[in-house]
Amino acid sequence: MNKLIVLGIDGLGYTNLTQHQKQFLPRLNKLCETYTCTSIPLDVAISPRNWTRIFSGQDLKWYNLFIKPVDNINYRLIRRHELPVKFIWEKYPDMIVINAPVVIPPICRNTEFKPVAYGLPLSYYEAWRELNQVRRHTLKALDTNKPIISVTTVFDRILHITGNEATIKKICIELDEVIHQIIEKAIQNKYNWIIISDHAMKRVSSDTEGKTAPRHDMPYIKTVTKAIHGHDENSLFISNLPDKPTSLTHVYQIIERELKQIYRF
Ligand SMILES: [Zn+2]
Repeated sequence: MNKLIVLGIDGLGYTNLTQHQKQFLPRLNKLCETYTCTSIPLDVAISPRNWTRIFSGQDLKWYNLFIKPVDNINYRLIRRHELPVKFIWEKYPDMIVINAPVVIPPICRNTEFKPVAYGLPLSYYEAWRELNQVRRHTLKALDTNKPIISVTTVFDRILHITGNEATIKKICIELDEVIHQIIEKAIQNKYNWIIISDHAMKRVSSDTEGKTAPRHDMPYIKTVTKAIHGHDENSLFISNLPDKPTSLTHVYQIIERELKQIYRF
């Protein structure tokens, strides 16, 4: 076998899979029991920094938010060229990259996938659209035999703004089915596969509904003004490979090792 797909699930930590949302994620739990499945402890639970660790192997200690201040009241998005790292897809330019959230909007390469809501799907409808677009384009990518990175952000985004059990159940069941379909096709097409997350989610408010608003200075992006779940410090790793990584930069090394083998030929 000399193909690889890395499937990212933003916010779905080991604790979410095996404890908090366990009953809503039966197929993912089955993968966890059948293949290598491990919890990666984290020092920080910050999305842009952790995805950058996974996809570049570098730790940008200052990179905590997708945005930076330009004066006292205005912010703007951090741009790709401001990150002094080389991402794995820049070393292997024919990789297919779907929705890699190292910056906002997420990076896409060699795909027709377009990030939904600037990569910040915060309504149920937007989440549903993102998940289905990720499914469609990832299943299509698996027919190319090229290496693939594909990330869905819906678990993180939706849990930020809801504690409603019925909504969480719906999104989890949909997510579980999408991951199952992708991994099933990956196995059929003889891909090696890695499922990885950047952090976990934990309940921080007993309220049911959070709030979002367009950013006052960048109204094309929404921001969470009241969170129901926040981030927690563990990541999920499941793979048909035998590795048990102990850090996110270790996950990068595994991805790079696999790609080196692929591109040797
Ligand atoms: Zn995240």
